[in-house]
Amino acid sequence: MMDIGEGFPIVPPGGSIGIVGGGQLGRMMAAAASRIGLSAHIYADAPGSPASFVAASTCMGSFDDTHALSGFAAGVDVLTYEFENVPAGPLASLALEGVAVAPNVEVLRVAQDRLIEKTFANELGAVTAPFRQIDSPADIVAAARDIGGPTILKTRRLGYDGKGQVRLPSIDDGLDATAADDAWREVAGAPCILEGMIDFDCEISIIGARGRNGEIAIYDAPRNVHRGGILRTSIVPANVPSRSIKAGRQIVTDLLERLDYVGVIAVEFFVQTNGDLLVNELAPRVHNSGHWTEDACVTGQFEQHIRAVAGWPLGSTRRFANAEMINLIGDDVATWRDHAADPFACVRLYGKDVARAGRKMGHVTRLVPIGG
Ligand code: AMP
Repeated sequence: MMDIGEGFPIVPPGGSIGIVGGGQLGRMMAAAASRIGLSAHIYADAPGSPASFVAASTCMGSFDDTHALSGFAAGVDVLTYEFENVPAGPLASLALEGVAVAPNVEVLRVAQDRLIEKTFANELGAVTAPFRQIDSPADIVAAARDIGGPTILKTRRLGYDGKGQVRLPSIDDGLDATAADDAWREVAGAPCILEGMIDFDCEISIIGARGRNGEIAIYDAPRNVHRGGILRTSIVPANVPSRSIKAGRQIVTDLLERLDYVGVIAVEFFVQTNGDLLVNELAPRVHNSGHWTEDACVTGQFEQHIRAVAGWPLGSTRRFANAEMINLIGDDVATWRDHAADPFACVRLYGKDVARAGRKMGHVTRLVPIGG
């Protein structure tokens, strides 16, 4: 399906971008849009969203309300989204009515379901952890025997930041019918995949963009460290073999082309000790592991996404500093003053009021300029 391309007029300076979702990603996209003379309009499902404080306007409505979304879309030149779990049905209806939606709705269908996503990656020639479809507790034991070793049960839909995941021991270490029943209860009986646990050397992500005319730009890869399933730091350069990076860039290029993609995409990889890559997941949007690009590159990921969906030429991804991005999660945000006193730290706070545990409150990018 092709929802946007040469057929839609380029969004000129003064034009408007509609962003579905009002979180920190929408906030940073809205700020980037305003820097290049475009206005960002937010569609959010709750008042006081982080993006609403920097956008030209905010429309409130439910994400599955096709009628409200249609009214919102009528007032903007192009529609994009800041989270992949936006219901695809309403956006598909809008695309059929002639609304420019980018990235296209087929991308959401792939990215919203881990089973479809991993099957798609395999069909493209990319390797993933071994996985099996799970629809019952009995499937868990059978699949675990098939895969061998420890595994992770993951809900097919709506999982992020380690949510909807249960780690399971190998059959030899105690995975039996009772343990499978417990795991199945933990995911509330939702359709799942069971995935082999990978003993990786490190994790990297590759963030790329494709413009409406098919041009592609890819950033240097960061090395990502997660704790409790949540990204903590991204460090660039990643210090992994150049052949791994080359292979990852090729996978991202193939994905962008095969999906007729317009906008920024992030692909997360496991790097094995021999340098081989496994695709973990793709995010059809700007990504937390790309936040450093805003401060360390000529064009950051937020502006790049806006440029792509608006039909502008892509900007340069050239990096002029080494960088370490640190997420400020929950109470971490109390350290903002120390970071603000560091002359090489770029402090970015999201304007969220309550610092709940596990909530992303902001991030800091520490820069080490290349060449002094
Ligand atoms: P996900 O939500 O699938 O991106 O998982 C969140 C994090 O859990 C990943 O970034 C990894 O650190 C870890 N993880 C997920 N799947 C696996 C796996 N198959 N093997 C080892 N670690 C994993």
